[in-house]
Amino acid sequence: MILVLESKITQHQKDKIKNMLSGEGCITREIMDAGRNLVGIIGKTKTSLEEFSQMEGVAEAVPIKSSYKLASREFKSEDTKVNIGNVVVGADRIVIVAGPCAVESHEQAMDIAKEVKKYGAVLFRGGAYKPRSSPYSFQGLEEEGLKILADVREKTGLGVVTEITSPSQADLMLKYVDVVQIGARNMQNFELLKCVGRMGMPVVLKRGLASTIQEWLMSAEYIMAGGNNNVILCERGIRTFEPYTRNTLDLSAIPVLRKLTHLPIIIDPSHATGIREKVSPMARAAVAAGADALMIEVHNNPDEALSDGPQSLYPDQFGQLTRDIYVIAPVVGKQLDFDYLKKSEIINGMHASENKTAAFIGEYGAYSHKASLGYFGEEVKPVPMKTFKDIFQAVQTGDCQYGVVPLENSLSGSIHENYDLLQEYDLNIIGEITIRVKHALIAQENVTKDQIKKILGPPPALSQCKNYLDQYPDIELVPVTATSSAVKQVKDMEDKYAAAIGSTMAAEIFKMNILEESIEDNPRNYTRFAIITKEVRGNKKVNKTSIIFSVGNKPGALFSVMKVFSEYQINLVKLESRPMLGKPWEYMFYADLEADIETPELSPVMGKIKEASENFRVLGRY
Ligand code: PEP
Ligand code: MN
Repeated sequence: MILVLESKITQHQKDKIKNMLSGEGCITREIMDAGRNLVGIIGKTKTSLEEFSQMEGVAEAVPIKSSYKLASREFKSEDTKVNIGNVVVGADRIVIVAGPCAVESHEQAMDIAKEVKKYGAVLFRGGAYKPRSSPYSFQGLEEEGLKILADVREKTGLGVVTEITSPSQADLMLKYVDVVQIGARNMQNFELLKCVGRMGMPVVLKRGLASTIQEWLMSAEYIMAGGNNNVILCERGIRTFEPYTRNTLDLSAIPVLRKLTHLPIIIDPSHATGIREKVSPMARAAVAAGADALMIEVHNNPDEALSDGPQSLYPDQFGQLTRDIYVIAPVVGKQLDFDYLKKSEIINGMHASENKTAAFIGEYGAYSHKASLGYFGEEVKPVPMKTFKDIFQAVQTGDCQYGVVPLENSLSGSIHENYDLLQEYDLNIIGEITIRVKHALIAQENVTKDQIKKILGPPPALSQCKNYLDQYPDIELVPVTATSSAVKQVKDMEDKYAAAIGSTMAAEIFKMNILEESIEDNPRNYTRFAIITKEVRGNKKVNKTSIIFSVGNKPGALFSVMKVFSEYQINLVKLESRPMLGKPWEYMFYADLEADIETPELSPVMGKIKEASENFRVLGRY
């Protein structure tokens, strides 16, 4: 049962209810969910629903129908985010866990860890206690393996995940690793579940070889009833009659779980398929189906692996896969950033008291707000600004440490104003993020589509939804400055004839009704944002460099710069020109290079560009 508490409930009233329930042998769990203060009651109570709702401080008493309680969406409507150091599983970033099936030696673990980190993994996996079908197979390095994992974490900064097979290993796990895994064979080992419940550390709970989703969630409930809410559900294939793959990956579990539970979901396509060439297609499908994370077995010498070699990817195959995931993730509103660890460095470098902020344009709920959250997570506070110039100004003066500015949209092209501001201000780009722009039609609560007489939206959004809007020629279109201000204005006007075009996030923030989702004509609608700051990135190797330069007004001037890129095999991914400030008919070129031009191998490049150009500045390496 759930008690929805009144906001003005006193601590004394709360204690009275909780004491009464613990007297009856019930467990109580208090949470904040969607702005409401809730108490979940687990166990049998003699008090009826009516009696609870009459109690002082209780607004409502609601039964939980499912047999799992704490794990259910009925109890907690908001998605659970599990924090593992700087990594958050269940937010809008895809988390990649990769590594060998088993830790075999210090050298093997360290080599693979460096490879997977390079390609975007943020957690390292490796078994030290291996539950094998045969007692004669390699059983793992045990404590020695855990020590190796701890050293991998120390040297690479990656959090480490390993399987716990017995409660007797609990202290060692707490000492050496960040996440424990309950293997498929142990999903219903209830003593082990209770043990990890008490341990409190993040748990990856694998689905049993032949377990239903209901049984799986009951196992999660065991861990949560023990006081540990950091549970990540791992689908790793179930046993079916089909012999072509080791198991059958049940991807439909993702949307099923989304309805039933608030817990995050990780997919393991390695154990699900058991065959190397089937791993990447299923991993891509898992992300498209809405997985929060992937667990992939990677080995630097799979032919010699002591376990699960045939399903382990080679490091470069893993690299190909993460590139694909990078492209797929924005389609489902998520990101995979190779920049992740660099961001963690930024965030790690902050002191808790520093309260870093990131300026973005528009109101809360703007796509820029979404980009800021996508890039920084919750560690950096987004601050709304009225104009792009205000953002640059705030970063320049130090009022905000970061700025999040859109540079280009896949449909409407470059946002020239920001290119000009990059020229005007001496700030650095330290990262980028691309998000999918998915417009919704948003109105007051209880308003239906047929009541709408006018629609507010900024001109680019109106034009991106032209086909949709053309269906309603009688509706007046009202241009405003941004999607988020359209939503806010409709909210403030309390006008039930008005609707706004904006993000579903804005609708949620302003507690508005979504009349229709995805109304943009072309779903390939992405915006790329740059993260700007005053700091300069250190010496770490990066993937991209943005530069600006101008060239003289003579034949072949631009070509002479392009020639440098060609000579050093540097891939130019964007070239844009803008008028130079205060110099009519002279142009500044902006170029994005898929290279780190500060690496020793490319050391002559900068000098050569400087020679061939008139003005030259590195805007950022990231
Ligand atoms: C593993 O992750 O290496 C493993 C043994 O997985 P499962 O429990 O899913 O078989
Ligand atoms: Mn394995």
